[in-house]
Amino acid sequence: MRNITEGIILKSFPLGEADLIVTIYTLDYGLVRVFAKSPRKTKSRFGSSLEPFSYNKITFLGNEDNNLPRLIQADIIYPFQSLRDNLKCYIKSTEILEVTLNLQPERLIVKELFYILLDTLKKLDSECNTNRWNLFYKIKLLKYSGLAPELSGCVICNCAGRTFYIHEGAVICEDCFIKGDYPRKISLSQGAINLYITILKWNWDNLHRIKPSDILNSELNNMIDRHIEYRSERNLKTKWFNFKVQQVMGSSVTTP
Ligand SMILES: [Zn+2]
Repeated sequence: MRNITEGIILKSFPLGEADLIVTIYTLDYGLVRVFAKSPRKTKSRFGSSLEPFSYNKITFLGNEDNNLPRLIQADIIYPFQSLRDNLKCYIKSTEILEVTLNLQPERLIVKELFYILLDTLKKLDSECNTNRWNLFYKIKLLKYSGLAPELSGCVICNCAGRTFYIHEGAVICEDCFIKGDYPRKISLSQGAINLYITILKWNWDNLHRIKPSDILNSELNNMIDRHIEYRSERNLKTKWFNFKVQQVMGSSVTTP
């Protein structure tokens, strides 16, 4: 079965001397892993189309039952080369790929999320000096993955509350959560909660109107990162990498 669609390369992993396993987020099939024969040989027909970020028209053989469908063609629609050439942009954009890999199951088709991912990379391509698009993307990704935190009041009694419990993925008020010591909790400002609810509810096309302060962006982003790490049971490598880069280069490189 021949499948033709558009896809963004999330990850390429070497297999043997010349082959690759490539993870692609596609418009029509969701996240797929494919086998690419000999792309690492010089003059391969794949060229640089299998590098992370590349937005391609792709053709692969095999259906859902195939463990590893075979990629037979990838033609670059947009390479996002500038994301790769600028270290600050590269780190920010890599985080976007990483959270997508960690949260999206294979073959779950969410066309809205595909277009949001594509648009986020375009925004980072042209607006790399702001931190808001990473935060916006992560919240929409959580929504479409069915993992959005509940912050609009205590999840048990619906009364006001601002303490987020990571294990529950929700705000719980003191009356409902009185027993024991729960170290994995985060106190949030009302501003961060309001910002989250707005991003979650608003249409993607309207989010450009929201320009949160760096402090608010950072507060909400830290909570979202811890939630993503807990839900995916994986630490965010890009966060660690960014920390190391900051140590080497000073504070000139920051992710949200
Ligand atoms: Zn309650």
